[in-house]
Parts: sequence; C-alpha cells; structure tokens
Amino acid sequence: FGGAGARLTEGLNPQQKEAVEYRGQSLLIVAGAGSGKTSVLTRRIAGLIDSREAWPSQILAITFTNKAAAEMRERVHQLIGQSADGMWISTFHSACVRILRREAEQFGFTKSFTIYDSADSRALLKRILKELDADTMGFTVSQASGKISKLKNELSDAETYSRQINTGDPQEVLFLEIFRQYTRELQRANAFDFDDLIAQTVYLFRAFPHVAALYQRRFRHILVDEYQDTNHAQYALIRELTRPVDPDEVELLEQGGQYVATLRDGSGRIPGASLTVVGDSDQSIYAFRGADIRNITEFEHDFPNSKVILLEQNYRSTQNILDAANAVIANNFDRQAKSLFTTVGAGDKIIGFTGYTGHDEAQFVADEIATLHDGGTAYKDIAVFYRTNSQTRALEEIFIRSAIPYRVLGGTKFYERAEIKDAMAYLISVANPADPMALRRIMNVPKRGIGPATETALQRYADQHEVGLRDALRNASELGLGPKVTGAITGLATLLDDVSKTAATAPVSDILLALIQGSGLVDALRASRDPQDEARAENIDELLAVTKEFQKNNPEGTLLDFLTEVTLVAAADDLDDTSGTVSLMTLHTAKGLEYEAVFLTGVEEDLLPHRMSASEPGGPAEERRLFYVGITRARQKLFLSLAMTRAQFGEVNVAMPSRFLQEIPVELIDWKQSPGMANSRGGTQPRALNARRDGFDEGGRRGIGSGSGDGGFGGRARAAGGYGSGSYDRATAAAKTRPKTEWANRVTGTVRDNGDLELDAGDRISHVDFGEGRVVAVTGLGARRIAEVQFDTAGRKKLLIKVAPIEKI
Ligand code: ATP
Ligand code: MG
Repeated sequence: FGGAGARLTEGLNPQQKEAVEYRGQSLLIVAGAGSGKTSVLTRRIAGLIDSREAWPSQILAITFTNKAAAEMRERVHQLIGQSADGMWISTFHSACVRILRREAEQFGFTKSFTIYDSADSRALLKRILKELDADTMGFTVSQASGKISKLKNELSDAETYSRQINTGDPQEVLFLEIFRQYTRELQRANAFDFDDLIAQTVYLFRAFPHVAALYQRRFRHILVDEYQDTNHAQYALIRELTRPVDPDEVELLEQGGQYVATLRDGSGRIPGASLTVVGDSDQSIYAFRGADIRNITEFEHDFPNSKVILLEQNYRSTQNILDAANAVIANNFDRQAKSLFTTVGAGDKIIGFTGYTGHDEAQFVADEIATLHDGGTAYKDIAVFYRTNSQTRALEEIFIRSAIPYRVLGGTKFYERAEIKDAMAYLISVANPADPMALRRIMNVPKRGIGPATETALQRYADQHEVGLRDALRNASELGLGPKVTGAITGLATLLDDVSKTAATAPVSDILLALIQGSGLVDALRASRDPQDEARAENIDELLAVTKEFQKNNPEGTLLDFLTEVTLVAAADDLDDTSGTVSLMTLHTAKGLEYEAVFLTGVEEDLLPHRMSASEPGGPAEERRLFYVGITRARQKLFLSLAMTRAQFGEVNVAMPSRFLQEIPVELIDWKQSPGMANSRGGTQPRALNARRDGFDEGGRRGIGSGSGDGGFGGRARAAGGYGSGSYDRATAAAKTRPKTEWANRVTGTVRDNGDLELDAGDRISHVDFGEGRVVAVTGLGARRIAEVQFDTAGRKKLLIKVAPIEKI
C-alpha cells in the first residue's frame, strides 16, 4: 500500500495525529486559529487515499475559498506524490454548480444555466421593484435582496413564505410579490443566483431521491473546513450527502455494476458517508450572511456518536501575537474559554501607529513594507488587511508611488469593469439563449442604433408571443421597425446563433474572438478618440488572454466551464498569482490564510467595529471575531494602524481608536506614533504634517475642525462629541468623555501595571470606562489572571487584571 504512511503523521502532536487517524462515522475538530485544523484535514485526505481506503473520486472536501481549495489540492499532491485528480476539493458553491450542471434538466433548467452574481441579481430586482412600483413604497433593492438571500439560506422559497406572512400587512404582501416575480424571472432566464446554487441542490436531492442516492453513494468521505461559517442551507446539504443510501434507490443503482456491493456493510446496507468538520467558533464572521454557529455547537447532537477532538497548540504565531488575540477574544461572552499557546517564544512586540489621515497611515504601511523587504522579507509574505474595500484607494495610491508590487485579493475589479461585463455578456448570450439580462446588456453595445424604445418593442413582442427576448430579436422583421434598426437587430441575432452552433465544442478563445470580431466590440473602442477606450480595448484583449490560459489549463474545458469558473472565482476570491506581490484584502477574505507580516489598518471605531454592526444583535461581538481573525493571520510581525481623520464617501470625519485596541494588554504594543503623542512625533513630523494638509485639501473640511487643533486626545474627544451617540455602546460613550491622560496613558504604551492586585470573587472594583461593579470570578494565573466582573451599568466583562484600568474599592 501507499508509501506515505507514517510520514503523514510525522511531526504532528498527539491530538493532531489522532485527528488524522480516527476512523469513525463523524468527527468534529474544534480548535483556535493556527492550531493545524486545515493541515489535519489535508493529511486525513492524503491518508485516506494513500492507504487505499478511498479513491480520490470518493472524497468531497469543502473549503471556504477557491484559493484554499487550490492550496489543499497542491498539498495533498505534495504529501502523497500522486495526483488527486477526480477528487472534489472545492467551495460549497463550486461543488453545487458541478452537481447542478449535471442534473439541472431534472427540474426544468438546462445545464447551460447562467449564474447571476450579486450585481446581476440586484439589476433584476431593481427592474422588478420598478415594475411593481415598490420603489415608491420605500422598498430598496438592498432590502429586497437581503431578505431574499436570508430566506433562501434558510431554504425557504416564495411559496413557503406565502404561508407565513401576515396578509394584512401590505409591505409583506408586496415583498412576497417581489420574491415571486424574482423567482419566476430567474427560472425564465434559466439562471440561478448565488444562494440558489446551494438551496436548489438541496431541493434537488430532496425531490429526487435517485439523484441524491447517486451522490450519497459516490462520496464516501466528506470533509469541511471552516465549519463555523456554514449556514442552514449548507448544513442541510451536508445532511443530505451523508445520509445512508436508500435501499430502494440502491437496487436501481446496482444495475450499474459491482461497485455498490463493495460499499455494503455486514447487514447489506450502504452506510452514509463519513463526515469530518473542523472549525473555530471564535472565527465565525459570516453571521450577516446566515452563518449559524449552532452548526458547530450542536454537531454532536446532529450527528450522534461523533468524536470530538480539541487542538490547543498554535504553530503559526509568536506568543505576543497570541496573547493579544487571546485578550481580545476573551471579551466575547457565550464562548468556551480557550487560550492559544505556542512554543516559539514571545517574538517581537506588536507595532502600533496612528496617522493624521488615512493617507498618512498608508505611508506608514508602505515605509514599513519597504523596510521589511530590505530586511529580506519577500513581498508575498506580507499582507495588508482592512475592514472595507473603500480603504484600498489610499493604500494603492501610495504603493504605486512607492513602487511596491501589490495585488488586491477578492477585489473583483477586473470582472467588474463595464467592457469586461459586456464581453462576458456576449459569451453568456451564446451559452444561455434564455438569459434576457445578458442580451439586454449587449443589445446596443457597440452602438447599433437599438434604443430604449426599440428594446421595449422587442420585449412587448416577446411577452405577447410568450417567447424569449432572443426569439423576438430573430423575428425583428415582424415588428414594423425601420429597415436600419431591423437590420441591426437581425445582424446581432444571426451572430449569436452562428457562434452558438460551435459553442459546445470550440475553444473558448475562438468563441470570444468570433464574437468580438463579429460585433465590432473592440473595433469601436479602438476607433474612439477617448483615450480611456483604448485602455478598455486592452482589457478585452486581456480577457482574450485569460480564455487562452484557461484553454491551456483545461484542454477539455467548454464555454460553460469557463463561465462557471469566472463567475465563481470573481465572486469569492481569485486565483491570481501572488508570488511577487504584497496581498491586500478585506478581513473577511483573510480567513484561513497566514503571512509572515500582517498590517491591520483602520483600527478605528465605525470601521472596526463597523458602524453598521452597532445596530445588529451580536454585531460588535462578530466584529471582535473579525479582528481576532486578522490578528491571528500573522506569523512573526503584526502592525496595527489607524488614522485620526478618515476620508470616506467624499467627507472627512474624525476617527476614534477602536475599542478593541484597549483590549490588548498595553505591554504588547509598541506605539511608533500614537494618538496621545501626536505633538511629539520627533523625526516623522514633516511627513505627517504634509499628509495632514493633504487630508484637508482632498476631502473637504467637515468634521476636522476642533479635533485637528492640537492633535491630542482631548481635542479628538471633543470633535467626536458631534457624532450621534446611538451607535456606541456605553463603554465607548464613556471613552469619549474620559480625561485625555487616561486614554493617552493607555494607548501610548505607558504601561499600566496593577502588579499582583489581590482580587477575589465578591470584591467590588471601579473601572475607568465601565464604572463600578462586582467581581464574579477570577481565573488564570500570574500575568494572565482574568477577572469576570458584573458592572452595575455596563454589563458583564472579562478583564486582564494586571493591566486593566481598575481599582479595588
Ligand atoms: P485557521 O484557524 O487560521 O484556519 P488552522 O487551524 O487551519 O488555522 P493551519 O493553517 O492548518 O491552522 O496551520 C497553521 C500553521 O501551522 C501552518 O503553517 C501549518 O503548516 C503549521 N502547523 C500545523 N501543525 C503543525 C505541526 N504539528 N508542526 C509544525 N507546524 C504545524
Ligand atoms: Mg484553517
């Protein structure tokens, strides 16, 4: 049998080894960040194949991003030196697309269905809202799309919903109509939105047991990474896939041959697939998309006789980084206390920096990256994280100026460009003639004189004759339009029909080329005198290069395969080669990844925690987990930065340091330039002053006023007083009015040290932010002693006794 055997568990700690070797029906591995969850999953897969317990095709591994999937595939290959072809390692979405492409015909779709990304869904919803006059009733596209998404993630459809609503409430009735129409239009367009991919696969399995049996029989081992972020639909999918195979359906399948016999157990039944899931509740950051932490906490209940293994040792980060992470996450309640430790030592301190503006902060990041690079750290080992995409602009500007090569991960920039969407719409129109959205997009691109009135006439024809928009185009001559327009329309229809004939077999690059040439898309751009259009033409050339690359990597790949890849990859993350570049990404994208050096930027109130989170139940706690995820990506060096003023949406506002900064024991952070020390920056002064002037010039003056006067903390607190206070919790409100020195001491790193402050349950204390309270419990030892305190007004908190701003009373 395979030769990797013992090598697969080499270097693992006993718990990891057990997790790799355990052979039972269901296994849950729960552990903190960097403890080897993903590594263990990868080795389990390698072990199953290497020992011949499973064929690659019997394994389904689910990762959170396409990038993670590619890495896992590569690692398995490295471990067992055998290609893992035939194995499904993919995201939930990709796996479901593969299943749906094969089975869509079972329920009224065709395998050439289009996948609507969120921009497509929103465009469709916008039209529907307008048609139903819902926009005038105060319905927004965001509300409708959010609500539909939520319902689909709960596996509810319009019909289920119709039975639950209060028919006396006109808003609910209206929403139901929106949902119904949206569903109908997707069906008519032979399209699925992102949430459908999962929900419809579940529906497929439930409605067609013989289809379910096919996949239940095929996948004998299912492994899921980042299980804490699965939503109900994904959970249901796993349930369906791990059910024992229905004996009646097996009879049918067995006619297929011998294979099934080998799967039967002693009693002649085919048991459900084995399930391994790994996760960390502290890293659950997708509740806003319906992720349900109960999937983890109730695993043992959902899958009886399951084994649970805990991993505790962290192999990624230094102890200083872990101490910061532990201290931050300890402020969340309702979690199982766990602490990460490592044997690699304390390592460097965390570096803190406060700029006057986002620009200033970005300059700091660029300078530090240059220093790191000079010191031998490769660009690819450095990452910069931020909470919102809008923060990239300042960073990108400075990186370009400083000649730092970088790449924005998960930024769908390229595929979001209008000209790329146009070219893609041509491809989609060829693949899926039923899709009116793509067709509408290209109807008059390049300009061929088909205006809105003509489009309406075509749509009316389609509605009257109950045919698709594409048929209306074909029959344009029946519409009584002018000869020139009619010619243009039939020309487009003919081009699409001609190219469609070859679509199933021709290389994608040939298809795209035929469409570009036939439509004159690039010619029109090249002929334009707008210099931007030349850049657009080059982008389409780039897309052509992408199709050639695709063909090289997937010699058998069809147009549908290409469209699938692009839609899913562009949505989730990208497979971009990040070998020589610094990686920029949102904190959400960073999950599961690791880098030598990590810059966590914009650690400010309203950004992190994000302003929107304040009004959500559990919002601030989820933001704290997000911060925790960010911190725990760093192996050696962690930089936390913020700005005193932040330009966003064309306004400049005063920013406050994030409450999370206060949760990190001060002795762990070395502030290079801190809020309270802004008057004594020494050598960095000239640059900071320039940056500050930039801040005024570029973004207007609003909000800076008094805050910028002395740059010190008192001034900032005054300026921030103008904020609406509703979005803050009490602690932050207290922080705003607290004397300057308290803040300055804490944030600047004047180490507060309570020594071995005696504290026991029952003692009363006073806290700078939270006021008075009673100690409920004291846990931990030495410098890591933690007091759990019930405050009289601020609720229950956990505090690191050594450094917390508390006094016994
Ligand atoms: P996250 O929660 O962030 O997803 P994780 O639990 O999945 O983290 P991994 O990414 O699997 O952790 O592992 C973190 C790092 O530790 C990786 O670089 C991995 O190679 C390394 N590692 C894991 N186990 C060991 C071990 N036994 N010996 C040495 N290094 C290890
Ligand atoms: Mg992981």
